[in-house]
Amino acid sequence: MLLQQEREEIVVFGRKLISSNLTTGSGGNLSIFNRHLGYIAIKPTGVDYFLMKPEDVVVIDPEGKIVDGKLKPSSEVSLHLGLLKARQDIHAVVHTHQVYATTLACLNWEIPAVHYLVGFSGNKVPLAPYATYGTPELAENIVRSIGQYNACLMANHGIVTVGADLNAAFNVAEELELVARLYYQTKCIGEPKILSDQEMEVVTKKFATYGQPVSLP
Ligand SMILES: [Zn+2]
Repeated sequence: MLLQQEREEIVVFGRKLISSNLTTGSGGNLSIFNRHLGYIAIKPTGVDYFLMKPEDVVVIDPEGKIVDGKLKPSSEVSLHLGLLKARQDIHAVVHTHQVYATTLACLNWEIPAVHYLVGFSGNKVPLAPYATYGTPELAENIVRSIGQYNACLMANHGIVTVGADLNAAFNVAEELELVARLYYQTKCIGEPKILSDQEMEVVTKKFATYGQPVSLP
């Protein structure tokens, strides 16, 4: 089976999205780019994560043409392709509607450095302007707004995270849900103190690889 390992990873991490409360039902989507073979494995649209099998995962080329698989790719295929083509340093993309990050996205806020774990993204999580889901315009907005960050909020929609591999992109999504929740909760009872760009530079240097600090203090 073409991209067997990547397809199996998408099944495993899809289930982790549910068990980690980062998505519900068949929401959210994941992709992995095998740059050596030039093909992308992406979640099929509207398939339950616990019923999804590796052969259900769709393999497409960088233009979005189906190379292997019987199902239709995720409705956000243009967002995944846009990021994977624009960022040569990444190999995986995760998109979710995780509740706290999406709450802030619905306010059209960015997430500042309220906690050092925002370093999984950079010195903040930027916000991409709204566009209808699944459109090339949304993909363009995100590619422009994410720059070299590892995550980007999508106005009135959700969040997208990227990484050197799927584990890294998943970790970014999971850690930023905690940061988003802390930002929400601190704003409920006061005004959080934001870490300086200088301090965040120190932190992001310590996060030597994408989203994989060896041990968190
Ligand atoms: Zn979405």
